Amino acid sequence: MIFVPNKLTFRGIASLSQLSETHQMIHKMCRDFAEGELKPNAAKFDREHMFPAEQVKKLGELGLLAVEIPTELGGAGLDALAYAIAMEEISRGCASTGVIMSVNNSLYLGPVYKFGSDEQKNKYVRPFSGGQKIGCFALSEPGNGSDAGAASTTAVLTNGKYVLNGSKCWITNGYESAAAVVFATTDKSKKHKGISAFIVDKPSDGLSLGKKEDKLGIRGSSTCTLNFEDCQVDPGNILGEPGFGFKIAMMTLDAGRIGIAAQALGIAQASLDVAVDYAEKRTAFGTSILKLQSIQNKIADMALRLESARLLTWRAAVLKSSKEPYTKEAAMAKLAASEAATFNAHQSIQILGGMGYVSDMPAERHYRDARITEIYEGTSEIQRLVIAANVIKQYTS
Ligand SMILES: Cc1cc2nc3c(=O)[nH]c(=O)nc-3n(C[C@H](O)[C@H](O)[C@H](O)COP(=O)(O)OP(=O)(O)OC[C@H]3O[C@@H](n4cnc5c(N)ncnc54)[C@H](O)[C@@H]3O)c2cc1C
Repeated sequence: MIFVPNKLTFRGIASLSQLSETHQMIHKMCRDFAEGELKPNAAKFDREHMFPAEQVKKLGELGLLAVEIPTELGGAGLDALAYAIAMEEISRGCASTGVIMSVNNSLYLGPVYKFGSDEQKNKYVRPFSGGQKIGCFALSEPGNGSDAGAASTTAVLTNGKYVLNGSKCWITNGYESAAAVVFATTDKSKKHKGISAFIVDKPSDGLSLGKKEDKLGIRGSSTCTLNFEDCQVDPGNILGEPGFGFKIAMMTLDAGRIGIAAQALGIAQASLDVAVDYAEKRTAFGTSILKLQSIQNKIADMALRLESARLLTWRAAVLKSSKEPYTKEAAMAKLAASEAATFNAHQSIQILGGMGYVSDMPAERHYRDARITEIYEGTSEIQRLVIAANVIKQYTS
C-alpha cells in the first residue's frame, strides 16, 4: 500500500531571505527586542522567578501579544508564519517570556477570537491585545492531563448562572491573567461531548489560586492551580455552543503547538549560539576546540535538527494561514522542535564542558527550559499518537 499525496501542501519558504518584507521586518524587530531587552535579563528572570512585567507590556505595545488578531481588535493583523518567526526570536532571548507570549496569543486569544461573539471579542479580546491585560487557558486537571476529555470540573446551570466546581492545574499565566478560558463538564453523560468552554473573569468570587509551582525551567513564567468553589459564571460567557468545549480545546492546541514548536526552536538556536561562540574562544591542546572534528560533528547535528524542525514549523504555519488542515503538521513540528531543543541544549553543555554546568553561562538554563517543550500542549507521546492517527487515515480513507 503506497500513499501518494494528491497535492503538494507546502508552498515552501526555504530561508529567511525568501520571506516577505513584512516577515523579515517582524524577524528583525523581534531579534532586536530579544537582544536588547530579553537576553540581558533572562538569567535574572530565571534566578529570581521573576515575571517579566515590563517586557510583557512592551511586547503588547509591539503587537506581539496578539500577532494574528486583526488590527480592528488591537492586534497586529499578521499570519501564523509571522507568529512562528516572532515566537522563535523572543524565545531565543528568553524562553519564559516566550511561553507567556504563546499562552496569550494561541491559548487565550486564539479561541476567544475564533469562537467568541462580537460582545465577547470587545470585552475579552481588545484589552488583551495590547498588553494591558493577559489571559490564560485552563484545561489540565490534577486527575487528567493528556486525557483531557475526562475533565471532572463541573458547570451546573443553577438559577440562571453556571456554577463551576473543581480544579485546573499547571495554569501558565495563572497569577497575572485577568481572564481564563476554562473547560468544564455541563453534561457528564455525554463524556467529552458534554464539555463546554467558559470565559471566566479573574478575580471572581469562588475562584482561588494555588501555590506558585517551583519549576525546573521557564521560571520567569508563573504556573499555578485554579480552584473553583461555587464560582458563578454568566451563561453569556460560554464560548461557542454548550458541549463544543472539547473541540475548541483540540483546535486551540493544534494552533498552540506551532507556538511551542517555535519556542523550542528559539531554545535550540540559543543553545547552538552559545556553543559556537564558546568553542571558538576556548583552546585545548593548543587549538580552538571549534577546529576539533568531534566538536564540529556536534555542531552539524545541532544545526541539522534545528533547521529541519524550523522547516516543519514554518510548513505548519503556512498551512494554518492557508486554511488547510494542519493537525498532523503541527504535531510533527512540535515533536521535532522540542526534541531538537532538548538535544541541542544537551550538546551545548557538552561543548562548554564544566562551564556548561554552572549558571555563569546560559547553557544550563537552556537545558532546563528545553525540557518542558516535550511535555506541555501534548507530550511527545501524544504528538506521536496524533501523527500516526493522521498518517494511517491517509492510507485507509
Ligand atoms: C510548566 C507547565 C505549564 C503548563 N501550562 C498549562 C496551561 O497553561 N494550561 C493547561 O491546561 N495545562 C498546562 N500544563 C499541563 C500540561 O499540558 C500537561 O502536564 C501535559 O498535557 C501532560 O499531562 P500530565 O502532566 O497529566 O501527564 P499524564 O497525562 O499523566 O501523562 C504521564 C505520562 O504518560 C504518557 N501518556 C499518557 N497518555 C498516553 C497515551 N495515550 N499514550 C502514550 N503515552 C501516554 C504521557 O506522555 C506522559 O509521559 C502545563 C504543564 C506544565 C508542567
